[in-house]
Amino acid sequence: MPIRHRLFAAALALLALHAEARDYRYSDAHLHFVDFFQESEGMTSLLEAMAAGRIDHVMISGIPVAKKWHEDEPKRPRYYAGDDAGAYWYSATDVLVADAVKRLPVEQRRRFHPFLSGFNPADKNADAHIRRMLELDPGLWQGIGEVFTRHDDLTALIYGDTPRANNEAMARVYHLAAEYDLPVMVHSNITSKRERNPLYLAEIEEPLRNHPHVRFIWAHAGTSLEIHRHQEKLDFLLPTLQRMLGEYPNLYVDLSWSVLQPYLLDAEGQPDPSWLKLIERHPTRFVIGSDVVGRFDGLGGNLAAFDPLLDALPEKIARRVARENFLALLPAGRRRELGL
Ligand SMILES: [Zn+2]
Ligand SMILES: [Zn+2]
Repeated sequence: MPIRHRLFAAALALLALHAEARDYRYSDAHLHFVDFFQESEGMTSLLEAMAAGRIDHVMISGIPVAKKWHEDEPKRPRYYAGDDAGAYWYSATDVLVADAVKRLPVEQRRRFHPFLSGFNPADKNADAHIRRMLELDPGLWQGIGEVFTRHDDLTALIYGDTPRANNEAMARVYHLAAEYDLPVMVHSNITSKRERNPLYLAEIEEPLRNHPHVRFIWAHAGTSLEIHRHQEKLDFLLPTLQRMLGEYPNLYVDLSWSVLQPYLLDAEGQPDPSWLKLIERHPTRFVIGSDVVGRFDGLGGNLAAFDPLLDALPEKIARRVARENFLALLPAGRRRELGL
């Protein structure tokens, strides 16, 4: 073959390869700007990680609790589970997020979707506090969460009562969310570390039923790495989601952190056909997220890790899950600004 024919053939092959690669762009539906000590690498690092990871939009939230460095602890802890010290509800987390977002240039700011999280979900004054915050910065907040309720060992480390997603304080918060058209992301474990049954399912299911006008994003589909450490895979998770997605049109499922493995992908990294079928049946109800806390080097990798799942879905559905579904959850005014 003459050389220019060979070059032409190579170019064609390259083109074919390119047509096959889907080159996803992402929305990160679950990102914490700070860690459990309310520290952050900062906005410059986050912007760089977003550019490198092809991430167009992010949900940006604080962390609603601060872990204490207790007098009795010999070393400064590195994570909330690092020692026996408690954690306390920390409203200033939202001040840090608001400040970081407000400093952004206008063209970057439209890519950031701040969620308010710094309140005590066991306090019936929580809704009054949130209302004050919403009025302080009109139009800034685009969602509520991640609200921590049942959350492994953290539940017991937080000072005060155990918050439940179905307590009276949260019912008041849901009414406020409906009034302001804000989605609510709730971390509510489906069970405890050791119980092999959906021990706490009613706590998330009751508000889904009672507040049909609120868009609920169920963080990690009720799972956690700590639950997996004790019992690997919950066999009731898939049938529970199959039923709930049919029953509650206001339920959206966040696939971040502990859902990719062992549920969506098996040990060899192959997508599970039953989960693929679930997503295809409810193509608008799943979002992906990085769940990074204050450090952003893992951001792009955490989202690209979903590619084997996305590649196994029809392209249109894959792009929805990768990017569009999260944007569709935002308040109507925000969606209009984005031209959606
Ligand atoms: Zn969580
Ligand atoms: Zn989180």
